[in-house]
Amino acid sequence: MTHPWIAPGAMLGVLGGGQLARMWSHAAQQLGYRTAVLDPDPQSPAGLISHLHIASPYLDAQGLSQLASQCAAVTTEFENVPAQALARLQADTLVSPAPEAVRVAQDRALEKAHFVGCGVPVAPHAVIENTQALTSVPDHLLPGILKTTRLGYDGKGQVRVRTRDELTAAFAALQTGDTPVVCILEQQLPLAAECSVVLARGHDGQCVHLPLQLNRHRDGILAVTEVWANALPEHTTQQALHAAQQIAASLHYVGVLCVEFFLIEEGPVCDVLGPLVVNEIAPRPHNSGHHSIDSCDVSQFELQVRCMAHLPLPTPRLHSPCVMLNLLGDVWLASGATPREPDWAAVLALPGVHLHLYGKAEPRHGRKMGHLTVTAATIREARAVAAQAARVLGLPS
Ligand code: ATP
Ligand code: MG
Repeated sequence: MTHPWIAPGAMLGVLGGGQLARMWSHAAQQLGYRTAVLDPDPQSPAGLISHLHIASPYLDAQGLSQLASQCAAVTTEFENVPAQALARLQADTLVSPAPEAVRVAQDRALEKAHFVGCGVPVAPHAVIENTQALTSVPDHLLPGILKTTRLGYDGKGQVRVRTRDELTAAFAALQTGDTPVVCILEQQLPLAAECSVVLARGHDGQCVHLPLQLNRHRDGILAVTEVWANALPEHTTQQALHAAQQIAASLHYVGVLCVEFFLIEEGPVCDVLGPLVVNEIAPRPHNSGHHSIDSCDVSQFELQVRCMAHLPLPTPRLHSPCVMLNLLGDVWLASGATPREPDWAAVLALPGVHLHLYGKAEPRHGRKMGHLTVTAATIREARAVAAQAARVLGLPS
């Protein structure tokens, strides 16, 4: 069924009120929409700047029905929101992405099985449901990374294990609470680099994408994204784009989707798996796509709004090579336990710096407080300015 496009002035909604919902809300408001956020936190970054903030739990029937009745369309900013919340909303309003796509992205075991079904290579892995299953884990998966199949993000719910004893101990340590925590053990791959593709797929199946992003992580959390034309060899870029589009199409996906990839170092593992392996998907705008606000002529957040409102999807054009640095709470806590305001004036004195702070009151180690994107005429210049900004902020180089 085709829907007419939703005119500005209507209310669009989002489940979750963090920084992704905040930047999405900015994009929606720029296009003249009103925004509604459902998030239990009265101080949530997106709730603070939206027209309507419903501060109820994600599964609260009354909160969900208020959101559905007020909004012409609703999306989610994170995949850990129960798929049943989206399913409930779907009874009364337009929802994208579909609950089924979120259900797949929510569970690493389902997700991996889905990628295999699409013919896209994944890390060798085994799903471990209970202690007995530990004995049948094949040797070649060690050293590996044990991950909970659900509720992981920013490297949380992950343990690196070298031996069977470490695996047994890590599996036991991840068993918190009364219900068994299903885990997946992935072979630790020799990574040459990591990259991601952010795409947007419309209700009619039209698919556009941001330029490919190169990502560097620190302690399992994205630290730096760099984007410039021809960052990777053409055939690798095409392979990643093709895989991402195939995954989106197979999920009948509507909205913005991020697909994360590992680039494998040359050697025996690469000979078996090939140079490109899919890691995971995020059914939403992604941290590695934040640069698009400042470096592209249409951002990942505007694309999400356009998908929801059935508006046309133009192909994003990168107008400036860029470097994005994540700003974690550690920047505020560099000199001890008492938070200190970083020297923003010094950072903003640098050319091409676009600072984004998410309005979170309390800096904590590992907490995403903001990011900055440096745009420049060349990637070399962007890197040089980003290095200066990193020095001012005490970020590791
Ligand atoms: P996020 O949601 O922030 O993307 P996450 O907690 O879902 O992260 P992953 O993307 O699975 O976790 O892993 C985080 C990082 O750990 C990866 O980007 C990569 O640097 C490293 N990593 C994860 N799995 C593997 C693997 N099998 N081999 C080598 N490195 C890995
Ligand atoms: Mg990841």
